[in-house]
Amino acid sequence: MRIARLGEFEKERAAVIVSDSEAVFVDDVIGDWNRTALENGALERVRALDLSSRPKVKIADYRLGSPVARPTKVICVGLNYAQHAIETGATPPTEPVVFMKAPDTVIGGFDEIVVPPGSVKTDYEVEICVVIGKAALYLKSPADARDHILGYTISQDVSERHWQVERSGQWVKGKSFPSFNPMGPWIVTADSYDPTDVHLWCTVDGEERQNSRTSDMIFGIEHCVWYISQFMELKAGDVINTGTPQGVGMGFKPEKYILGGEIVETGIEGIGTIRSKVVNY
Ligand code: MG
Repeated sequence: MRIARLGEFEKERAAVIVSDSEAVFVDDVIGDWNRTALENGALERVRALDLSSRPKVKIADYRLGSPVARPTKVICVGLNYAQHAIETGATPPTEPVVFMKAPDTVIGGFDEIVVPPGSVKTDYEVEICVVIGKAALYLKSPADARDHILGYTISQDVSERHWQVERSGQWVKGKSFPSFNPMGPWIVTADSYDPTDVHLWCTVDGEERQNSRTSDMIFGIEHCVWYISQFMELKAGDVINTGTPQGVGMGFKPEKYILGGEIVETGIEGIGTIRSKVVNY
C-alpha cells in the first residue's frame, strides 16, 4: 500500500494511492497519517476498507504533502555509506553515528528548498527514510525491528556544511533550517518493499550527482532501528533518515553546492521521485 497526504500545506488530507494517477481520501476514517492515528490502528483500519467503493481523485490535481504529519522525531544516521564516508575524509564508523534535526524541517517532496541567508554551502543528500509504525524501545535484536516499521519513503536531508562542520559542536546546526527535509512522494508500506538493495540517486539541474545502491550501507536499516531503540523510544510516525551515499556537493573537488535557482531531483527505486526548486530566503 502507498500512503500519502494531499492538499495545501497544513491542510493536507490522509489518502491512499490506488494507481499511478489516482488516490482515495481516508481522512474521514482515520483523521491524519500522524502519531495518534497510527497508535490507534490507522493502518489496520484503512486496510479493512473497500477502497474501490470510495471516490477516486487525480493525484495531479493536488499538492503532495509530507506523507506523515508532524513527526515527533527526525533522527538521522550519518556516514552510513562506505563510499560516502571515504569522500568526506571520515573514518567509517564502528557503530552508527546518530544525530537529530528539527522535526518541522519536514515539507512535501515537491516544495521549495530555501537556502538560508548568506549560505554558500547548502548541500543535498538522497536518503531512504524509515517511518516507524509502532513504538520501539530496547529491541532485543535487529530482526525485531521489522514489526515496528510502517514503511519507507524518500528524504532529502538538506545540509548547510558551513554551520554543520565549521561552527563547532553538533551537526544539528547545519541540518535544521526551515525546508531542509523534503519528504515523499508517499510511504510504501513495509509488507510490499525490500529496501536492502535498491538504487537511489540525486540530480541537480539534470546532472547526476548521487547514484548508488542501499547495499553500500555500513549498517542496515533493521540494525539502525534496533540500535536507536537502545537509547530512545521510537514512536509511531517518527522518521529515520538512514544516511546518504557518495556524490554530495561537499565530496566534489571543487565542491558543488546548491546556491539557489536549481532543481534538485531525488529518487529511489520502487518508491518514486521527489523534485524541489531551490530558492533563496
Ligand atoms: Mg544525511
